[in-house]
Amino acid sequence: MTVRVRLAPSPTGNLHIGTARTAVFNWLFARSQGGQFILRIEDTDYQRSQAEYTQNILDGLKWLGLHWDEGPYYQSQRLDLYRQSIQTLLEKGLAYRCYCTTEELEQMRAAQKAKGQAPRYDNRHRDLTPEQEAALEAEGRTPVIRFKIDDNREITWYDRIRGLMSWKGSDLGGDMVIARAASREQMGQPLYNLAVVVDDVDMDITHVIRGEDHIANTAKQILLYEAFGKTPPEFAHTPLILNPSGQKLSKRDNVTSVSEFYAMGFTAPALANYMTLLGWSPPDEEEIFTLEAAAKKFELERINKAGAKFDWDKLDWINSQYLHNMPVEELTDLLVPYWQEAGYAFDPHSDREWLAEIAALIGPSLTRLSEAADMSRIFFTDTVNLEADAQDMLRQDAAQTAVKAVAEATANHAELSLDDAQGIVKTITKQHKLKKGLVMKSLRAALTGALQGPDLMQSWLILNRKGRDRPRLQKALEIANQ
Ligand code: GLU
Repeated sequence: MTVRVRLAPSPTGNLHIGTARTAVFNWLFARSQGGQFILRIEDTDYQRSQAEYTQNILDGLKWLGLHWDEGPYYQSQRLDLYRQSIQTLLEKGLAYRCYCTTEELEQMRAAQKAKGQAPRYDNRHRDLTPEQEAALEAEGRTPVIRFKIDDNREITWYDRIRGLMSWKGSDLGGDMVIARAASREQMGQPLYNLAVVVDDVDMDITHVIRGEDHIANTAKQILLYEAFGKTPPEFAHTPLILNPSGQKLSKRDNVTSVSEFYAMGFTAPALANYMTLLGWSPPDEEEIFTLEAAAKKFELERINKAGAKFDWDKLDWINSQYLHNMPVEELTDLLVPYWQEAGYAFDPHSDREWLAEIAALIGPSLTRLSEAADMSRIFFTDTVNLEADAQDMLRQDAAQTAVKAVAEATANHAELSLDDAQGIVKTITKQHKLKKGLVMKSLRAALTGALQGPDLMQSWLILNRKGRDRPRLQKALEIANQ
């Protein structure tokens, strides 16, 4: 048997981190078993589904490296199949038309509430005669289609993450709606539980791996498999992602979509790595790994049952590990869009080498790619703002002497090499009997406007390439007169 799993997102929003994590687990399981990962877009809710969300989901999955082997299938293109299946259920007497109005259903629920009972449909139209149906239709009512749920059933399955699960039929809310209201001739829009089962059967899905918020649906779906005479797949319900305070991660937590994580400066492999750890623990406790490496040791049984708390510090740490160990060419590629976004003027092709020098300089200090804009601003601007302590430093006579000497020495060089720059500092230190630390500090203040920052010599060379060092040295000399 070939393992076949699927991701079945509804395009009612951008790719959510929870869906992405479900995708990661499905992908890992498929790869670990030599199986296939199928993508199915569940877009039957026309009001809420949008093409741009579908695009965002496809882009996000590709960006994360979660390539699918089949699909995307679109449920909106498969409605006939669902309608045929509903027809089969009607013919077998396992489903029926229910003519209750919204008001009647509301009254029913209010009465149940008054008696302290859980709201449920009381199955009142389960056994209507054709004459009763005709009479209700004559009133202008349009029926939904309900699937019969036996209250006395106990539905059990062995969940690959949660172990033996069991649900009472009486806890499923009564006979469930499988098609929306429409006239008898024009069967209404098929609903989620029905469409999922029809598709999972049709697509030969062997394992359904999805969030634990679907557990009650699983019980209903198992009854549908039985009604169609099919064997249910195996189920694995993954724990929810919780926010740092332990509540279900929601829109209120601000960042919930994968595209937002991209904009915040996380890299795809780091985010995929982090999502894998969000609920799963590798047998060797190794925390930095590629999806391919994780697939080699992935087991559903190692997914925790308890909710997984989102930990920003951990995600930052993982991201920094990727950034610090990345080849400089790759880092440069990733940084270019962030520099462009910051509005800096440069040519990604002719300035490539120069950009790579900046990437190499700031790479070891980066936690998120988005920090690069601030960290490297001084290289892209002609002038630099001198911070207060840098100004104080530059007002000192010794600093002025040092900066003046550097300015004079650089005037003789077309383009500096590292040897030139080091030679200049050395010579000045000797000639003017200045401490090397003072020369370096004055130079840093003049060139970068701050007393601290990344490697000074490299920073100087990067500025020198664009002719931005000399004007800054001149400006630092003017400060003495201000
Ligand atoms: N469309 C459902 C969702 O996005 C799919 C659930 C499932 O995997 O069956 O939650």
